[in-house]
Amino acid sequence: MSISIADELRRIAKGEILSDNWSREIYSVDASHYAIKPSVVVCPLDKQDVEKISKYSFSMNVPITARGAGTGLLGQSLSNSIVMDFTKHMNKITEIANDYVEVQPGVVKGILDRELKKRGKFLPPDPASSNYCTIGGMIANNSSGAHCLGYGSTIDFLQEVGVVYSDGNTGRVNGNGKSQDLRTRNLLGLLSPYLGTIQSRYPKVTKNSCGYRLDAVMSDQGFSPHKIFAASEGTLGILTSARLKILDIPLYRHLLVLGFGDLLAAVSEVPRILRFSPVALEMLDHTVVSHGEKNKHQQFSTDTGCILFVEFAGDRIRDTEGRLKACKEKLSGKCTIMESVSDEQSMTRIWEARKGALNRVMRLAYGSRKPIGLIEDTVVKPSLLHAYTQYLLQAYSDSKLDYVVYGHVGDGNLHTRPLIDISYKSEVELIERLAQQVFGKVIGFGGTITGEHGDGLARVKHIPSVYGNEMFSVFLQVKKLFDPKFLLNPGKKILPTVMP
Ligand SMILES: Cc1cc2nc3c(=O)[nH]c(=O)nc-3n(C[C@H](O)[C@H](O)[C@H](O)COP(=O)(O)OP(=O)(O)OC[C@H]3O[C@@H](n4cnc5c(N)ncnc54)[C@H](O)[C@@H]3O)c2cc1C
Repeated sequence: MSISIADELRRIAKGEILSDNWSREIYSVDASHYAIKPSVVVCPLDKQDVEKISKYSFSMNVPITARGAGTGLLGQSLSNSIVMDFTKHMNKITEIANDYVEVQPGVVKGILDRELKKRGKFLPPDPASSNYCTIGGMIANNSSGAHCLGYGSTIDFLQEVGVVYSDGNTGRVNGNGKSQDLRTRNLLGLLSPYLGTIQSRYPKVTKNSCGYRLDAVMSDQGFSPHKIFAASEGTLGILTSARLKILDIPLYRHLLVLGFGDLLAAVSEVPRILRFSPVALEMLDHTVVSHGEKNKHQQFSTDTGCILFVEFAGDRIRDTEGRLKACKEKLSGKCTIMESVSDEQSMTRIWEARKGALNRVMRLAYGSRKPIGLIEDTVVKPSLLHAYTQYLLQAYSDSKLDYVVYGHVGDGNLHTRPLIDISYKSEVELIERLAQQVFGKVIGFGGTITGEHGDGLARVKHIPSVYGNEMFSVFLQVKKLFDPKFLLNPGKKILPTVMP
């Protein structure tokens, strides 16, 4: 089957069609623990290629999964059908204006960052994977990063998308009421009766990548149909371009690194620190700090129980320094100030150390004993973070599990991974039980089970528990509206059991 599809695609498209075993092997993995071999990989040369391939797939009922850099942590870009790689050709920055940037989906975030910086601009969402990950992947996962606290996630910057639907038709979708196609007009009709449910059912937290973000589509800012594609994991349309808002780099920045006795002591200070409006408030626990490499990026004492990184930024130096000073005074006697820097070189050095956290965590893997991600991206309100962290640590202790904890504590977003020996069925069952328990607590606290990493294969079955059956039935109608044959990235966002 794969040979004939590959041959057909070679006839249709201008970009590369890869059907050899080695290429398919490479695309069978991402940054999760899943492995699924695609039947064929396509690297579209341009939008017309995407349209033609989609039309062919629609007529033959063959699924397509879009792929950026494959740094998704939950198996989002894996499929046994066609995988469409945007990094090879559709990776251009097409326009940099004063307050927005227009890109193709395969552009790497780090490359965009460098171009924007030359003009004194930036696109704030900053995943630790930004040297590799693409804007298409960031939109589809609604990625964020350390500076989400001050500026927001990718969804907050998205202004317009160019999209190819599952049947090969195209759309340009934005929030200014112009150029809306039939699907997005129907979306308004579909969602309008559920406005009240949407307002009451969504987690009240600052970041969320779970399910479809109908709350951002139907918000106080009006109808924003383009936002349906953020966090949708390529299940509603294939993005061929995007316009995102950009900001001026702030004139003044200052970074504090604070050492605390332990994790709970650190998180208990989070609500107090937030009063001084930092743009980033990040945490590494003792295990992550002590597994750092002894190199230029690793400079923190391993005696420290837990580290917080607090960044202040603004265009008025007196205001920025005033908040910094007041924060330091408030924390006096509660922690050690390990670093207090405002020069760019020091800040880059320190942020690199924070960005390397997941890579260091992954090095804790020993044979089949691995730091497993399933409950690794929960979000609760910062005021509940201390209670939630206590609960989590107790759950780990009851299950006799070693673990790491780090993350974006200013948003109440904890990254945590227990060390699980996946060769034992009992341990795999244990992590599933732990997930049920921990997700139950997070949902009870009004939080979300994923703030920025997405649902992928690992969390898709937990989506209905976050939103309830009525909201989930709306998700299903949205999916049917955009992708009636369920051909776009099947098995993601909507449980395979409810597919036709
Ligand atoms: C070491 C490490 C650190 C990380 N740190 C962070 C972090 O700090 N913050 C954070 O938010 N995430 C983080 N991540 C997760 C991941 O890097 C991000 O979600 C990233 O944005 C994914 O981008 P990608 O290009 O690799 O996408 P992929 O993994 O290739 O794809 C992700 C999803 O996007 C879809 N997609 C890709 N292109 C398109 C398109 N053109 N049209 C429609 N759908 C598309 C795919 O189908 C898939 O569902 C980290 C991952 C790693 C490995």
